[in-house]
Amino acid sequence: MTEVTETLELKLVEPNAHKHRKLSETKMAHQQALEAAFGAECTTQSAANDVVVNYNLSGYAKNALKKYVPQLCGGSYDSKELHDDHPVRFTNEGVRLDHKPQNAIGWYVKIPHHDDYHLWLPAQPNPEQRAWLEALHAGDAKMGECRLFDRGGEWYLHVVATRDVEERSTSSSASETPIGVDIGEASLVTVCHRDECGSPTTPNLWNDEGKQVRQLRETYFTATRRLQKRGSERIAESYGDSLWRQIDDILHTVTSEVVAYAAQFENPVLVLEDLTHIRENIDYGSFMNRRLHGWGFAKMYAQLRYKAAEMGIRVETVNPAYTSKSCHCCGERGTRPAQATFRCTNPECWVREYQADVNAALNIADRYLNGESHLREHTGDDDSVGDGGPFDRPARLPSRC
Ligand SMILES: [Zn+2]
Repeated sequence: MTEVTETLELKLVEPNAHKHRKLSETKMAHQQALEAAFGAECTTQSAANDVVVNYNLSGYAKNALKKYVPQLCGGSYDSKELHDDHPVRFTNEGVRLDHKPQNAIGWYVKIPHHDDYHLWLPAQPNPEQRAWLEALHAGDAKMGECRLFDRGGEWYLHVVATRDVEERSTSSSASETPIGVDIGEASLVTVCHRDECGSPTTPNLWNDEGKQVRQLRETYFTATRRLQKRGSERIAESYGDSLWRQIDDILHTVTSEVVAYAAQFENPVLVLEDLTHIRENIDYGSFMNRRLHGWGFAKMYAQLRYKAAEMGIRVETVNPAYTSKSCHCCGERGTRPAQATFRCTNPECWVREYQADVNAALNIADRYLNGESHLREHTGDDDSVGDGGPFDRPARLPSRC
């Protein structure tokens, strides 16, 4: 295991006037305490404590200052630089991260103000750091020091995070096992790969979990709508939170199982559809459902990424166009007579009907096998348009069989 560290950036979303003032107060008190402690040449934590204790700051900011000031005073720090903007530092216990995927801005951070007062603010993370946020939220990454600062009138929080990852084995003599991962509705996740002869093997579907998530989501919509109609906004919110926690638990269970499934094979590679290219290909009733479905994708992707890294398993993405509409055997565009059924219309092909999610998972794995993992250009935005394209080739089968 190796410990990796990253600084996560969260932009605090439009604090209202009250919160903006509180953040500014914290920043000012921090700057004053820092300058005073530096001016008093505090070279020890207890000397710094005697100075910073007098300022209206949270214990988390004071504790961070106690550690920081002796480092400054011990070094060759130019006091003039003190007037530059210094971020407000907090020890990790003071900051909390929460996720409410049902809200337009799903992430929230708790920022200490002074001893018995803190602020919760919605925060926009860097999308590239989603896996880190999921790991932090699940307690699979550790939070370190946090730093609050403003830049051009906007507030940001930097969170130092660490987690363990398995170093990838460098012996590449073993051939890879690309495992196609299809994330869907009926089956929440479907995985499948090809054996050394190229035959589809050991498919696994998480059908029950797909059903549970659908039911919880429906309960959420009907119950919160009813509660909101009756004016019980607060009950609706807390009830919604508990339902989403149950969904998150299911997603965590499933993503852990997917990674454990992959780990049993030789040199596994998890192959996912490139999220930035995903267009909905299932008909959803409402915009809301669509957005929440997107949320499920993003959340599961982030969880799969960090859990795979923990076990040293690679994750690759491929172009998603037509993965659910092409035959994994002959490459022909087929039909979907039912949600769970793929039908190949090529009379020469032995495939008549096939489990649709397994067919899609195989196509995803085959894209990687065919070396398309780095193909970024995109020829068809929509999975429903049959205009041909470069993805009609069946898998390049290994020559051993
Ligand atoms: Zn076929």
